Amino acid sequence: MAETNDITIVGGGIVGLATAHALVRQAPGRRVVVLEKEHRWGAHQTGHNSGVIHSGLYYPPGSAKARFARGGGEAMYRFCAEHGIPVQRTGKVVVATGPGQLPALAELARRGTANGVRVREIGAAELRDREPHVRGVRALLVPDAGITDFAAVCRELAGILAERGVDLRTGTELVEVRRDGPGLVLTTTSGEVRTRHAVNCAGLHGDAVAELAGATPPARILPFRGEYYETAPARRDLVNALVYPVPDPAFPFLGVHLTRMVDGGLHVGPNAVPALAREGYDWRTWSPEHLRRMAGDPGLRALARRYWRTGLGEISRSLVKPLFVRAARQLLPELRGRDLVRAEAGVRAQAVTADGALVDDFLVVEDEHWVHVLNAPSPAATASLLIGEDIATRITSRVA
Ligand SMILES: Cc1cc2nc3c(=O)[nH]c(=O)nc-3n(C[C@H](O)[C@H](O)[C@H](O)COP(=O)(O)OP(=O)(O)OC[C@H]3O[C@@H](n4cnc5c(N)ncnc54)[C@H](O)[C@@H]3O)c2cc1C
Repeated sequence: MAETNDITIVGGGIVGLATAHALVRQAPGRRVVVLEKEHRWGAHQTGHNSGVIHSGLYYPPGSAKARFARGGGEAMYRFCAEHGIPVQRTGKVVVATGPGQLPALAELARRGTANGVRVREIGAAELRDREPHVRGVRALLVPDAGITDFAAVCRELAGILAERGVDLRTGTELVEVRRDGPGLVLTTTSGEVRTRHAVNCAGLHGDAVAELAGATPPARILPFRGEYYETAPARRDLVNALVYPVPDPAFPFLGVHLTRMVDGGLHVGPNAVPALAREGYDWRTWSPEHLRRMAGDPGLRALARRYWRTGLGEISRSLVKPLFVRAARQLLPELRGRDLVRAEAGVRAQAVTADGALVDDFLVVEDEHWVHVLNAPSPAATASLLIGEDIATRITSRVA
C-alpha cells in the first residue's frame, strides 16, 4: 500500500505552489505532494494575467484582499529580487478622464490611504510629464505598483520545492475523493494518493473539486475571460508604466488598462466577458455541461439580470475591435486599431453566491480534512506568498 502523505495540494498555480512553499518552512519534515493536471506549472490564471504587483489600493479596508495585497506585494518584490526573476517597481497612475470621475478618484485615494498604501493625487500637468500620451484631468499616483512574470515565479517555486523533497506531480488530475479511516484516498489520472489533509487550490475548478471532496461550496465559479491586445513594437512607447481607468465600483474588475510587461511589451486589456467553458480562452471554446450549469443556476441568472447592460457592452467590445479601441482611446487618444494585435486571453475564476452576488473578497472554507480556496481572483497572484502562509498556518496546527 502507498505511504500516506501529510498534506496534498490540488492545483499547481501560484496559490498552490506558494502554499507548498510555506508548508515546507512551517512544517519541515512533513510529506507534501502537489498535484497539477496540466504538464506545466501556472498553466491557467497564473500564466495568463497582466503581471501586475498590486499595491492594495482598491480593496475595502479590513478585507483579506487589502491585508494580503499590501504585504504580499512587498513579499513578491523580495522573492523576485532574491531569485533573479524579472521585476520592476514601475508605479502606476489611475486616471480620471473627466470631472464626473473625480469623486470616485478621491474615494479611491481615501481607501488606499486607509489600507496603508502610498498614494498621491496629481494634476493634468504632472500626469503629462509621466505619461505624455495619456489624457486625463487628474490622477492618483501609486509608486509601489509594479510588474513581474508570475509564471516564472511558479517555475522558481517548483524548483525550490523539488530541492526540499516535495513530491511534485504534473499531468495528474484529481478525479475522485473517498474517506479511508482517518485520512483520504485521492484518485488521480495517474494513480491513487493517500493523504491525511488536502488543500484545494484548483482555481477555475475550485467549486468542482470541493464537490468531489463532499463539500457544498457556498459560491460557484463563474469563469470571466479577460481579453488583451498587444501594441505593435513601434507603438510600445505610448505608455511608460501602468495606466488604469477609475474602476466601476459595482464591478470587481479594474477596467481595460495599459500595462507594460516585463518583456517590454505593452498590453491593452483585459475586458471581462463570460467564458463559455471553465477554460474558455476564446468564443469558439464552449462546453455544453458548463452552459447547462449556467442556464440552470439561479444565482447566475440573477447575476445576468443585474449586469446585463454592462455585460452587453463588454461582449460588443470583445466582438467588434473598433469598439474596444474606442474605449481604450478614452485614456490613450493616439491609439489606432492598426496599432493593436490580439494577444492571449486569460480566464478569471470569479465566485458567485446563490443569490447572484459576485464574491468580492478571497474566500477560504475549511472542514475536517480540507482547506478549500474558493475565490482567489486578482490580486491573488500578488498576494500569493502571504495567502500560502495563511493556508499553511491553518494546516500545520492540524498536523503538529
Ligand atoms: C486576465 C487576468 C488578469 C489578471 N491580472 C492580475 C494581476 O495583474 N495581478 C494579480 O495579482 N492577479 C491578477 N490576476 C489574478 C491571478 O492571476 C489569480 O488570482 C491567480 O493566478 C490565482 O492563482 P491560483 O493558483 O488560485 O489559480 P490557477 O493559476 O488557475 O491555478 C489552479 C491550478 O489548478 C489546476 N487544477 C484544477 N483542477 C485540478 C484537478 N482536478 N486536479 C489537479 N489540478 C487541477 C489547474 O490546472 C491550475 O493550474 C489576473 C487574472 C486574470 C485571469
